[in-house]
Amino acid sequence: MVNFPEGQTSQTIAIVVGQPIKHSLSPLIHNTAFTIANLKWDYHAVEVPKEKAQECIEAIRNNNIRGVSVTMPLKEAVIPFLDELSETARELKAVNCISWDEEKLVGHNTDGEGFVNSLVAETGERIAGSSFAIVGAGGAARAVIRSLREASVAKITVINRNQEKAIFAAELGGVNARVGTAEHIPECDYVVNATSIGMAGTENEGKMSIPEKYLKDSHTVVDLVYNPIETPLLSAARKVGATGITGVGMLVHQAALQYQHWTGLGAPIQEIERKVINEITQIT
Ligand code: NDP
Repeated sequence: MVNFPEGQTSQTIAIVVGQPIKHSLSPLIHNTAFTIANLKWDYHAVEVPKEKAQECIEAIRNNNIRGVSVTMPLKEAVIPFLDELSETARELKAVNCISWDEEKLVGHNTDGEGFVNSLVAETGERIAGSSFAIVGAGGAARAVIRSLREASVAKITVINRNQEKAIFAAELGGVNARVGTAEHIPECDYVVNATSIGMAGTENEGKMSIPEKYLKDSHTVVDLVYNPIETPLLSAARKVGATGITGVGMLVHQAALQYQHWTGLGAPIQEIERKVINEITQIT
């Protein structure tokens, strides 16, 4: 059975579902937004294994849960049980947010748009016409590549250990995307680490997905890994004079788009970012 929290009668409940879920930053992010907006919403983390995807969606309907974030391993598993999908979620075959449209449960994917929004917010630059090296071809990379296609970037080079996955991911980038190697990195404007290399608490902690020799001062380097906030890749990028952008921006912006789907409101990005950075700094 999937057990959802019961709110006080006046409270609207929102949740994040996935497994493991204990360390999710989503409750901190969304409860901060609800509090600042003075909304009587309460957001909880609920542990749900993949095999309980159908039961989970039924429970969301029966308990009138008004906002749902979806994380691993449920992003694809929930799809058959929803009423509608956004075009992005359909193309990516992955849902990270569920909202209601009257009686219908609609699946969205806000990762890619969150990435693009965070980049524009942090650099103040237009990305249309720029060239991107994306290292990685998993769920995060695919979402980013699809959104870069929509943002009309000039070139996307996908670099990944598994070549089959690289080809599949590059297809989402449209006619300006191709599969490449690390040697292509110097010719790009933006370099994005979309692998899990560098992530704290894993065997890849302290490592970099990109050899340092390919980094240049003209690069803007984005690491999707947000724990630690300052990854080895970002330190190496700053050392050569490149601009470094942490994964916190994407984390907050993709959540802000979810919040908007549920409430129709814009989220207080800066306040949330401050809280997230504070939390990650304390746990690392
Ligand atoms: P996936 O498991 O879907 O993909 C993992 C990717 O990392 C694959 O490309 C995989 O390559 C590569 N990889 C893993 N280990 C190695 C290794 N030892 N050597 C080479 N390549 C490796 O994960 P996601 O795409 O969901 O997430 C990727 C990272 O992005 C995670 O750290 C996640 O936390 C972060 N993320 C951040 C977000 C944010 O908001 N900032 C949002 C979503 C994700 P291969 O295909 O060859 O196995």
